[in-house]
Amino acid sequence: GEGLPRPEQTRVMVVANQKGGVGKTTTTVNLAASLALHGARVLVIDLDPQGNASTALGIDHHADVPSIYDVLVESKPLSEVVQPVPDVEGLFCAPATIDLAGAEIELVSLVARESRLQRAIQAYEQPLDYILIDCPPSLGLLTVNALVAGAEVLIPIQCEYYALEGLGQLLRNVDLVRGHLNPNLHVSTILLTMYDGRTRLASQVADEVRNHFGDEVLRTSIPRSVRISEAPSYGQTVLTYDPGSSGALSYFEAAREIALRGVGVRYDVQHAHAGA
Ligand code: ADP
Ligand code: MG
Repeated sequence: GEGLPRPEQTRVMVVANQKGGVGKTTTTVNLAASLALHGARVLVIDLDPQGNASTALGIDHHADVPSIYDVLVESKPLSEVVQPVPDVEGLFCAPATIDLAGAEIELVSLVARESRLQRAIQAYEQPLDYILIDCPPSLGLLTVNALVAGAEVLIPIQCEYYALEGLGQLLRNVDLVRGHLNPNLHVSTILLTMYDGRTRLASQVADEVRNHFGDEVLRTSIPRSVRISEAPSYGQTVLTYDPGSSGALSYFEAAREIALRGVGVRYDVQHAHAGA
């Protein structure tokens, strides 16, 4: 799976949607693994106190492990908390531990509270092609730190009723952060997740999302797949858990599409096997 173009600069992608259960974490870890399998060097930053991304990548994140909490609150260098992901060459993770739950409040009284993650990333010297940040299901200071640190927002949207509800709040926050703290920030990517092509509802939602967002929506969508939901309990992404499954193939394809878009190459839909 080598040979995809690599970005000239590290692409920092913020995976955000304040709704829970829409596929943020699943998308973060599986896209990250896919990009790494395509030959890129990728860092996942787990910014959710639940630590689901860390778990899914098989990364130890019990309370004593150096974590993104130490980076944000104690100004520990990012390099001191990053761990290599077992089984996937080129993939790394900055884990979240449960103390991150307190960071939302602890950050309030710290200087430059919105830009602590940005500074940590800027000081990180290892070469990376991508950083994917898995956000918690809220729009508090943790998510704001991600939006200040990144240039691109990736919004996973679950194909269900009310899929677009609540997105206005996220988009307004993106506008606010762009206006005040990070002029580069933009919504670059929308990914339809848990897509069930057999239902009218899913295709109606997909149409609605495509009408609303246009070109930001990836041609590749992610099907609902049991293998995707099983993989985290084995500390694996679906890319290593079941590489031939439809879920693995669709994330691999979505990663290819993201990589090609990043260098301005039009994605050839003929190659998409799972387009909505
Ligand atoms: P979030 O991070 O937005 O809260 P998750 O990525 O944790 O959402 O996904 C919520 C639940 O849905 C998890 O149990 C996950 O395993 C499951 N899930 C996510 N994507 C898929 C999919 N494509 N097919 C089946 N289950 C999925
Ligand atoms: Mg999550």
